[in-house]
Amino acid sequence: MEKPYAAGLMWFRRDLRAHDNAALHQALRHSRQLHCVFVFDTDILEALPRADRRVEFIRESLVQLDEELRRLAGGDPAAGLIVVHGSARTEIPKLARQLGVQSVFASRDYEPGAIARDAKVRGALADAGIALHDAKDQVVFEREEVLTQAGQPFSVFTPYKNAWLRKLDAFYLKPYPVERHAAALAPRPDAHRRPVPTLAEIGFAPTNLAQLPIAPGWRGADATLADFLPRIDRYGDTRDFPAVKGPSYLSVHLRFGTVSVRQLAAQAHARAQAGSEGATTWRNELVWRDFYAQVLANFPHVADEAGNGHSFRRAYDAIHWERGAHAKALFAAWCEGRTGYPLVDAAMHQLNQTGWMHNRLRMVTASFLCKHLGVDWRWGERYFAQQLNDYDLASNNGGWQWASSSGCDAQPYFRIFNPMTQSRKFDPDAKFILRYLPQLAKLPPALVHAPWEARPVDLEAAGLVLGRDYPAPVVDHDAARAATLQRYAVVKQADPA
Ligand SMILES: Cc1cc2nc3c(=O)[nH]c(=O)nc-3n(C[C@H](O)[C@H](O)[C@H](O)COP(=O)(O)OP(=O)(O)OC[C@H]3O[C@@H](n4cnc5c(N)ncnc54)[C@H](O)[C@@H]3O)c2cc1C
Repeated sequence: MEKPYAAGLMWFRRDLRAHDNAALHQALRHSRQLHCVFVFDTDILEALPRADRRVEFIRESLVQLDEELRRLAGGDPAAGLIVVHGSARTEIPKLARQLGVQSVFASRDYEPGAIARDAKVRGALADAGIALHDAKDQVVFEREEVLTQAGQPFSVFTPYKNAWLRKLDAFYLKPYPVERHAAALAPRPDAHRRPVPTLAEIGFAPTNLAQLPIAPGWRGADATLADFLPRIDRYGDTRDFPAVKGPSYLSVHLRFGTVSVRQLAAQAHARAQAGSEGATTWRNELVWRDFYAQVLANFPHVADEAGNGHSFRRAYDAIHWERGAHAKALFAAWCEGRTGYPLVDAAMHQLNQTGWMHNRLRMVTASFLCKHLGVDWRWGERYFAQQLNDYDLASNNGGWQWASSSGCDAQPYFRIFNPMTQSRKFDPDAKFILRYLPQLAKLPPALVHAPWEARPVDLEAAGLVLGRDYPAPVVDHDAARAATLQRYAVVKQADPA
């Protein structure tokens, strides 16, 4: 095939791998000489705390990507990744002009902030006569690829999933090979032949990432997947128990594209077709990811970058959430894991200490914030956005709107998770709770789920004083439940029981 561009520029964003990368494949096939760049985008970084696990994860992943690009270029030490620190809106057009490329290639990003950034970059490139090509890479099916028979986007999961499965064939899961086109990888110009900057060089401090079982980069993704596949058949039985190694822990890799979603979907699909129930359930989770991505694309009122989106079901915007100092105090107790409800508190400690929280606990803590504390789900959405390594606007918004009942296909508003029942069911021996709340260890496990129900003699035997060693509950479950049903009464018409 005749290559249309003498020189191209591959702009990596949330696709930090060389293998099975749709945009890189396209870029290599269409450019006789291809440069590769990643921008540490100050428009994003400036809003982050100076120590952020995600920045460290990206930095470590770039080191591996850089090595991999050089390997693909036959070991040429001059090849590899150009890494820039600045605003992508100006740096990409500047670099594209400096390198004399005719086209820039990138994987498509569906978040509103990214869409605005890409529109600016596209405009600036067009002014210089340079094209911007984007490719679907982040999801299996995007935007309007899976529609109802009436040609409308889906707002209910199960029919979406069925349509997704009907549409799925080998074409959509085919890997994009890069090895055979790698000869196009160009040496970096002298001025850009530098190693990936250190965290300090971009103004960040190290986090505890290296102490966590989260291995960055495509190698980390490979190892995480290899660890999960032998467990996949049991996924359905184990995934709800936070003390058990049940889920895949691949979310951060999906977030930053250190793994290909096509590769994961292909593995899950093959095993599901061979009869694995665990793989079938896990494949559904990947479909949920696509589902929420298309909700964000097709119903953009649900979210904005700042976490000020609207309810999918507009009627839910009429709910009066707690306000003022009272709400702020409840919210702080939730964020800091001191609500007095052990499962909720342990989950928040897991989030704060590791940047990851088990899915069952995301549901429990999100429900607790809006349906026990009466705090606006958007506050929680924003807090998760700051803390989660795998933060993804579409999935996070979808999860929050599900828990608060304001979303499409959400749980009904009158279904209120009982944190003690959840605790007894999904952490029966309190193993997970005690990992994060060791001060409760001397209580008999049955009492750990609700320490305020322990008799004074049990508390004394455990050397535990509620309010001193562990908080008394910030709200009473029954009272909170009644208040929530009252609060949600405004949506009754929109959402009859
Ligand atoms: C309130 C709330 C907020 C959430 N925020 C995020 C978020 O910001 N980013 C994120 O990736 N997931 C989010 N989730 C979904 C889910 O909790 C995580 O994807 C999952 O816990 C990640 O762990 P894992 O990779 O081991 O998942 P596994 O159970 O192994 O699932 C495999 C993959 O499927 C996808 N997935 C699983 N469950 C969901 C789901 N409910 N919705 C969408 N995709 C899903 C993820 O990409 C995940 O990595 C949220 C859920 C809730 C209830």
